[in-house]
Amino acid sequence: MECKHVKLRKIGVQSAEGGVNVYYVCEECGSVLVVPPDKSSIYIVPGVKKEEERP
Ligand SMILES: [Zn+2]
Repeated sequence: MECKHVKLRKIGVQSAEGGVNVYYVCEECGSVLVVPPDKSSIYIVPGVKKEEERP
């Protein structure tokens, strides 16, 4: 199932060239989204998915 990363929680910012990178974590899948200052190329770090699903 593909996650569209809609439930995002801001986890921090980091100084970058031209502004800041903003870091979000997807509450659905645990992926981290990094949004650069120009918002042109959002970088997604695949999630460390929590094993909360019961069999
Ligand atoms: Zn997601």
